[in-house]
Amino acid sequence: MPTAIEFFKLLPKTNCKDCGQPTCLAFAMLLANQKAKIDDCPHVSQSSKSALEASAAPPIRSVAVGKGKEIRMGGETVLYRHERRFINPVAYAITVSDTCNIPERIAEIKKLSFERVGMIFDIDAVSIKCDSGDADAYAKAVGDAMRIWDRPFVLECDAAVIEKALSAASPRRPLIYHADPGNIDKMTELAKRYSCPLALRSDSMEELADLAEKAKAAGIDDIVLETGASNLKDCIERHTVARRSAIKKKFKPFGYPLMNRVGSGEYAVAMAAMSTMKYGSLVIFDDLKSYEALPLFTLRQNIYTDPQVPIQVKPGLYPIGDPDEHSPIFFTTNFSLTYFTVRADIEKSKVPVWLQIVDTEGLSVLTAYSAGKFSAEHVTKALNDSGVLAKSGGVVVIPGLVARMSSKLNDMLNRKVIVGTTESRDIPKFLRNLK
Ligand code: SF4
Repeated sequence: MPTAIEFFKLLPKTNCKDCGQPTCLAFAMLLANQKAKIDDCPHVSQSSKSALEASAAPPIRSVAVGKGKEIRMGGETVLYRHERRFINPVAYAITVSDTCNIPERIAEIKKLSFERVGMIFDIDAVSIKCDSGDADAYAKAVGDAMRIWDRPFVLECDAAVIEKALSAASPRRPLIYHADPGNIDKMTELAKRYSCPLALRSDSMEELADLAEKAKAAGIDDIVLETGASNLKDCIERHTVARRSAIKKKFKPFGYPLMNRVGSGEYAVAMAAMSTMKYGSLVIFDDLKSYEALPLFTLRQNIYTDPQVPIQVKPGLYPIGDPDEHSPIFFTTNFSLTYFTVRADIEKSKVPVWLQIVDTEGLSVLTAYSAGKFSAEHVTKALNDSGVLAKSGGVVVIPGLVARMSSKLNDMLNRKVIVGTTESRDIPKFLRNLK
């Protein structure tokens, strides 16, 4: 990724502000931090644009699997999350054999769904595996799965049986898994003809690089690499070698997303955890239980959270229970952990409440207050914008940590304002005693 100065050299340097930034340098800094697109400057020349786009291409190619509901893999620019952030979360896929009852199997897979801090996590893809060895049976199984699974999928079979299924499935852009030294010519020819991404597999890193060069020379751009690692040590070593070579040494054959096929059981979960932490973009399981999926989803959420952006909920008015025109009005920040803690404690009280969430850019109560993002003015605006003051004549309750804004808020709202609890856990008792 070019530096801000490298971007700046290719910009018009007129400081016209048409991009919404005060100067070209400010815009260049946003480009370097991937917070703006080159198209946001309408005056950049085509030659500069081409140069910028080429130099701004991530060292790990961004590869899409699926159409409509797609998985995007790769697009990564850094070795460590704290350097900037990781871009595209690892996807988890589960195997569907062409010899099984497809509707039952897919129904089971769809049940693996969890909600955590306001986000829904479920299985991203299925890998349709040819166990029958029969091209017609495999094509039928793929067709059956496509009718009830609208997310991405992997076609997992050898070159001898894939074509019939691929010709029908290619509009959905499945990942072809896999090409190896024995079938690389046939698989690249199919991937090119049907415009689908192709997974390459080898136990040898040298051979894997050769396969990537061969596929690229054959016209395949969307490649996924499997290093053949079957234990934790090989997984971390091979993934680190591949990612370090691509990002630090600009070694193009390893500039693609990485994947693993991990089987099932607890060692498979450990392998998936390693892949999640160390550069994996796709993990295919033979099977995955709900108690195995939950820790992986949680780990993934942590690894792929932008360290510069706190997890947030949408600002707005959240009725809890069935509040009416007499119900109290609480407010707090849109930092997710604050919201979910306060909400849970209000629910425990069984007292209906209007909960106003103020946009503090994800900062918690005291941090937002200290940063000037959670003032009486911000709260008044949020309460007015949501219309809650017209819905309820109840008291407005201030979080105890920012009691000092009470008199100003009282004046601005012309409404009874009281100071609530300092700790969220004391809310149920506070609400039950509220007259
Ligand atoms: S629109 Fe382009 S030329 Fe104008 S200030 Fe922004 S970057 Fe500079």
